[in-house]
Amino acid sequence: MVENWQQVLKESITSPQQLAEIFPIDCRSLEAVVERYPMRISPYYLRLIEQVGDPIWQQCVPDSRELDESGLIDPLGEENLSPVPAVIHRYPDRVIFLVSGSCATYCRFCTRKRKVGCQGLSLSFRELREGIDYIAATPQVRDVIFSGGDPLLLPDSVLGDLLVRVAVIPHVEMIRIGSRVPVTLPERITDKLCSLLKRFSPIYLNTQFNHPRELTIEAAEACGKLADAGIVLGNQTVLLKGINDKPAIIAELFRGLLRLRVRPYYLHQMDLVRGGEHFRTSIEAGLQIMKNLRGPVSGLANPYYVIDLPGGKGKVPLVPNDIIREGNRLLIRTTTGEQVEYLDIGE
Ligand SMILES: *Cc1c(COP(=O)(O)O)cnc(C)c1O
Ligand code: SF4
Repeated sequence: MVENWQQVLKESITSPQQLAEIFPIDCRSLEAVVERYPMRISPYYLRLIEQVGDPIWQQCVPDSRELDESGLIDPLGEENLSPVPAVIHRYPDRVIFLVSGSCATYCRFCTRKRKVGCQGLSLSFRELREGIDYIAATPQVRDVIFSGGDPLLLPDSVLGDLLVRVAVIPHVEMIRIGSRVPVTLPERITDKLCSLLKRFSPIYLNTQFNHPRELTIEAAEACGKLADAGIVLGNQTVLLKGINDKPAIIAELFRGLLRLRVRPYYLHQMDLVRGGEHFRTSIEAGLQIMKNLRGPVSGLANPYYVIDLPGGKGKVPLVPNDIIREGNRLLIRTTTGEQVEYLDIGE
């Protein structure tokens, strides 16, 4: 049976020409981009576009700057951390399990641009089986992060089967799902999906809202259903130049997420991915945004600002430096900029 969301997904637009039928753009220059990095914009996400070049547009419409050759093909060195093709194992107690090769809308800044939506990430059943075997044979793995691509593009039956196989492994204590469908294909969050996921509690689902314009009634409904099913929701925003790199935009986004019962978890410094350089901001811009959150905005809306270092060196939180040493004196800068002397305890 074809479910409604699957039907909707089929109506996505996948070529610049289809876009040119709706918006006044010259689509020829984009053909070469799409040959290299596929395009898909779901009907729902397309409806969020108000005009050419707006924050929704920039996230999903191909741009000729993607053909720039600077940046790294595999910015996080993931290929070297894969004991089997479907698993990335960088930290001792948790792994990323790549279960799906496609997404409802392809983000132009995706870190796995090299393979998401391409042949490179269409996993065979054999590769998924090898992934499960690896997790089962690696007792230090407590936390399995379903990723891809978007795990929620799998049909319920396939997703349910993978969840069962992972959940029965005795040393697996929790499952996480990384999915952008609450943002790009809210129709996917069906009652049937929620009752399926509920069976595997604890499940943590991290999604990726990047702009307040994505906080729609449909997205709120999708998140509400997941939260009602006991799924703990988090959000990983990517800091994107010209899209959300302003303190007021991020503050509005993070406050809005709390209203949707989604906790801001990470603000990601954009990775050095090839074809995504035009989205990259300075670290200073990110630190400034974090400074503007701390204090004025609820602590619950203050995520970690992290950089994922090239070459698989891992995530590092970046924190504005508020500790000033002047000789023997230790001063701490408050969120309003005042310097307060603090009498530290000796070693
Ligand atoms: C980000 C990441 C994780 C998860 O890290 P958390 O900080 O626990 O969210 C796990 N494995 C890899 C390879 C990652 O890049
Ligand atoms: S949803 Fe995630 S995996 Fe898919 S294109 Fe966007 S960033 Fe990449």
